[in-house]
Amino acid sequence: MPELPEVETVKRQLAPALTGRSITRARILDPLIVAPAAAAGFKKKIRGRQITEVGRRGKYLKVELDSGLTLVLHLRMTGRLIHADMPYNSVNKRHLRLYLWLDDGSGLAFYDQRRFGKAVLLEPTQAAALWERLGPEPLERSFSAVRLHRILNGRQRPVKSLLLDQSLIAGIGNIYADEALFRAGINPARPANRISAAEAQRLCRAIKQTLRSAIRLEGSSVDTYRTARGARGRFQKTFRVHRREGEPCPTCDGTVKKIRIAGRSTYFCPSCQR
Ligand SMILES: [Zn+2]
Repeated sequence: MPELPEVETVKRQLAPALTGRSITRARILDPLIVAPAAAAGFKKKIRGRQITEVGRRGKYLKVELDSGLTLVLHLRMTGRLIHADMPYNSVNKRHLRLYLWLDDGSGLAFYDQRRFGKAVLLEPTQAAALWERLGPEPLERSFSAVRLHRILNGRQRPVKSLLLDQSLIAGIGNIYADEALFRAGINPARPANRISAAEAQRLCRAIKQTLRSAIRLEGSSVDTYRTARGARGRFQKTFRVHRREGEPCPTCDGTVKKIRIAGRSTYFCPSCQR
């Protein structure tokens, strides 16, 4: 499932290709992607609009239009956004759900095998409400150890389940929670309110380092995720514990274990992570 580094990679590739372009036409191949009731209005509202900015908030990609509306794209499980620099006839149609033609002859293709992805047009107040429901961006300077400690404090849930909670911190999912907790030497099952200030500092640094390295390697392709150019991410080659059950820990003599936390497979080293 695409998390912050994957969506950030797609954003960085799409921004130069899309910004300033106008959307000449939209084709909805699967109404589920825009919500069936919205399909007719969607095409009308998007046609002829210019893209003023491409951004990201948490795991959402946001395409700002000159009408003031925001096209919010959420990849969810298996969504994929590809900048198609070719005629529509040559575009791969397998699992294609939505296609936007741009005025330079290229297009934006939204693929989704399992059909959980969404493309919605939001009014400014609706968009603001959505962003408000999300926690802080972990790569922003204002996301500090003190702030993280405050989030963890007073909550008894396992620290990993808090890292996954989008209303507390935006953009972290299963992969980067496991990898950051390993780098910080913190057991994912630890009650959050037992994390000390010093540990919160280690965890804050680990979160930022893990996300930054993953962005540098264009995300993790463990399943269907691809960049906007159709390439695989490379961060999965550097996983230290995630999906490495039974393998030797990269830093001690222990073995990576798998447990379930908040319904998610969780990988960690019981001797390094206390
Ligand atoms: Zn270890």
